[in-house]
Amino acid sequence: MLTVENATQWLINFAKKVNEQKEFLTELDSAIGDGDHGSNMARGTKAMEDKLIEGGFTTVQDVFKTASMLLLSKVGGASGPLYGSALMGMAKQAGNDEKDLVAILNAGLEGIQKRGKAEPGEKTMVDVWAPVIHALESGKLNKETIQEAVNQTKDMKATKGRASYLGDRSIGHMDPGATSSGYYFEALLEGDIIDE
Ligand code: ADP
Ligand code: MG
Repeated sequence: MLTVENATQWLINFAKKVNEQKEFLTELDSAIGDGDHGSNMARGTKAMEDKLIEGGFTTVQDVFKTASMLLLSKVGGASGPLYGSALMGMAKQAGNDEKDLVAILNAGLEGIQKRGKAEPGEKTMVDVWAPVIHALESGKLNKETIQEAVNQTKDMKATKGRASYLGDRSIGHMDPGATSSGYYFEALLEGDIIDE
């Protein structure tokens, strides 16, 4: 179950993973975008981490809302508003019911889709969020299912975002935003949040 403490730790762990994989994310974005996803995400998640470490939050909603605002203002690119919308959707839903993780994540996915208008199969972060939430609902979420979802973006043709400019040439490369979303869910798994 989500608590202020484990929600905070989850996002701090996400920031750590992004930082460790900054070069890799940039490499992926250099192949099908403009090569800034690693630096965008590292800058934004570092600002988020610094704020979360200060603590003083009273609700899960408060944690997600704070994270949302920092990602929105500090990540930049396409992914800043998308992660910002995800965390804002999650914050709103956590305000309704802190206990229902699936509903919270679905509200996050809805935030991404409202903002970016991408459907599954368009080689975006949606292609990780959607199957991961499905797997969680059926009690099958593990590191392998996350990695599989990330890997599946390799064979997709991008039809949204900057990578769509490449058309067929986007095929054969993993999507950077899907990859960073994979770290988001790995951090969730490691957070002792999901009930057995
Ligand atoms: P930019 O494309 O502006 O340089 P980033 O490099 O930070 O921004 O982020 C690129 C990532 O954003 C992509 O790999 C993809 O996962 C995600 N993305 C782009 N457009 C959309 C969209 N419309 N819906 C969902 N995700 C998107
Ligand atoms: Mg980019």
